[in-house]
Amino acid sequence: MKEVFNFSAGPAKLPEAVMQKAQAEFTNWRDSGCSVMEVSHRGKDFIEIAAKAEQDLRELLSVPKNYHVLFTHGGGRGQFAAVPLNLSSASDTSLHLVSGSWSDGAVSEAAKYNNAVVVGELSKKEGLHYMPQPSLANVDQSAAYYHFCPNETVDGIAYDWLPESGDVPLVSDMSSTILSQPVDVAKHGLIYAGAQKNIGPSGLSVVIVREDLVGKARKETPSIFDYALAAKADSMYNTPPTFSWYLAGLVFEWLKEMGGVDAMAKRNSEKASLLYSAIDSSDFYASQVHPDNRSKMNVPFQLANPELDALFLRQAQDAGLMALKGHRSVGGMRASIYNAMPVEGVMALVEFMREFERVNG
Ligand code: PLP
Repeated sequence: MKEVFNFSAGPAKLPEAVMQKAQAEFTNWRDSGCSVMEVSHRGKDFIEIAAKAEQDLRELLSVPKNYHVLFTHGGGRGQFAAVPLNLSSASDTSLHLVSGSWSDGAVSEAAKYNNAVVVGELSKKEGLHYMPQPSLANVDQSAAYYHFCPNETVDGIAYDWLPESGDVPLVSDMSSTILSQPVDVAKHGLIYAGAQKNIGPSGLSVVIVREDLVGKARKETPSIFDYALAAKADSMYNTPPTFSWYLAGLVFEWLKEMGGVDAMAKRNSEKASLLYSAIDSSDFYASQVHPDNRSKMNVPFQLANPELDALFLRQAQDAGLMALKGHRSVGGMRASIYNAMPVEGVMALVEFMREFERVNG
């Protein structure tokens, strides 16, 4: 089979070594004669892997002791609702940075439950998308929380600063950036991530939440979204997504073997700079994102002549470079280069881009 590099934004490529291990254990997990999907979440064996996955994640992100780590249902969007339900009352204000499609989605959902206020928005600098850092003066200190998304998967916009929030707890949607670089968890009230990019299969979401923010859920909060119930039951209030949790555990083991998030950050910077250099060094390709805000995980780019888009995508697919079509709201191309994408994959893409330009430029 020819080598394929999958640039999908999510569900996305998982590490080769993880897939091989999961495949080997698929029908005969721990010599039990059955699959990990077929055993009880209450059994000793599953509880062991669940606890190890949590412990490994804590180590990888240096999660302080006063934070719960929850493995929950409902992906990233589930948390768009769970956060306001757990952290605010109907009369509370939530603050939001809107840097692209996903943080925009989070505001719309929060607005169903509280008084959601936008305190900073995407702007333009030198004709390119740019995310300015809002001033602390705009931050209502009585707000329940301050939501932001440091990596916008659709738009390829990222920022490495933390919003200044004073005493208002920061809530970060890290769905497409978690585990790609170190993060200071202690500066956040809550971090959540849908799993299907850097963690594992879709459906699962990971929530890291400071203890003092838990236990204030509204009466009408669905029980499966109540952080206190989840924490009390070690994320097994109901039947958890066992296979996803197991696979996430394999990914965390792989990450530790690879040298952890510091090693990942180095590799991810290398991959991103290879790709952005290829885009910047040619008039045939362009990025619409200001260099200060370019994502290292999702790299959208445009062809100067959009009439060539379909040909580019067809030939890329033939060359084993999958899922490069940009999101419909942005157009052009998008290469998602999460942790599991090897440097070789980005090199193959860059080589293809150069050759495509040579023939069609
Ligand atoms: N937030 C971000 C940054 C995302 O990239 C996504 C999905 O791609 C979501 C939220 C929504 O996640 P889900 O589809 O798991 O609900």
